[in-house]
Amino acid sequence: MKEVKGQCFDCYSDSSFRYHGQTGTINETKVQQDYVAGLEKPVTVVDCVSCGRKLEYAEKDGKWHTSPIINLKLSKYKDGDKIVPISKKSRSREFDTCASHYMRVELNQEFLYVNGIDEEATKQLGETCYWCHALKDGKGDSYRESDLIPYAE
Ligand SMILES: [Zn+2]
Repeated sequence: MKEVKGQCFDCYSDSSFRYHGQTGTINETKVQQDYVAGLEKPVTVVDCVSCGRKLEYAEKDGKWHTSPIINLKLSKYKDGDKIVPISKKSRSREFDTCASHYMRVELNQEFLYVNGIDEEATKQLGETCYWCHALKDGKGDSYRESDLIPYAE
């Protein structure tokens, strides 16, 4: 797998637009073609120098698919950590209408436990997502890292 330092497509098209935008000569298809011409088949990982994201570009059936690569080692929370959800932007349900919330209320407990990483949502959303529950075992509900704050004992 080839890994390159450069610009991701979003940043590349952004700067192309800024460069050509005023003259009105920008052609979105051309920008896209130019970009993928620089990628190596079947997979290129781009470490973006502009936005800092790491993205995997994979060609399948003549189309390029983009998925973010998350370095889980840089994740903020680990299993067993106590956190408090302030919102819920991963998967369905709100943070105050989901099973883990009801159980937390029932137990009269102010926090949830981190019970592992929700890898599917992490890949989809480009941000580390965790399974959190009022109990130390069981999956519970999925939250984004930015949905959570550490619990102060
Ligand atoms: Zn970028």
